[in-house]
Amino acid sequence: MQPSGIMVLGCPDCGGVGTYQGCSSWNTLGARQWTDGWISARMKPDLPQVVQCIHCDRAHWIRDAVILEKYSSYKVPESAPEEWRRAAKVKSPDEQEYYNAIREGLGRDQEHDLQLRTLVWHVSNHPYREPAEGLAPPPESGERWDNLCAMLALLEDGEGRVALQKAEVLRQLGRWQESLAALEQVNEPDYEQFVLAIRAGCQARNTLVIELPRTE
Ligand SMILES: [Zn+2]
Repeated sequence: MQPSGIMVLGCPDCGGVGTYQGCSSWNTLGARQWTDGWISARMKPDLPQVVQCIHCDRAHWIRDAVILEKYSSYKVPESAPEEWRRAAKVKSPDEQEYYNAIREGLGRDQEHDLQLRTLVWHVSNHPYREPAEGLAPPPESGERWDNLCAMLALLEDGEGRVALQKAEVLRQLGRWQESLAALEQVNEPDYEQFVLAIRAGCQARNTLVIELPRTE
């Protein structure tokens, strides 16, 4: 994993400053993957697409942030203004902050709304990625549930990736027959492991996210 130089970003809402360090190269060697499309790999950074501003407590898309400066170094240099040197790294919203941002209209159109809802869906699945004794399944109501229903409304009928995401959302809603029907629209060999895992999940009446077999 090769980090790129540090950037100083300004919040588009309040102008508050934060830093961001991207990555110029990474790989997914030894990656772990789950049925919701989440990938975790030691050599793949989890860079925020949405930022929760620590100054005004509002969320914004990282691409809407104002680029104040880009450095080739990994650290803000001593010659920079003190505010920049002291600035904290920008961070993604937590689950509740994402729901607040969706309510406040950060989704702005169908495509962004689905993107935002997919991001918070991944976060809401995090507690269930490692099988844990005594962990209660997510409730069948509340904001997580409403988000699944809203995603379903946004996912148009289609094939491949869209159908795969739809099948997984339907499975997590416990709508087994509809999930299995959506899987029929997925024929790409690349998605075979996903199809097998989601189908097995439906058969086992399991609504939790499932880790795919590791390929190492
Ligand atoms: Zn702000």
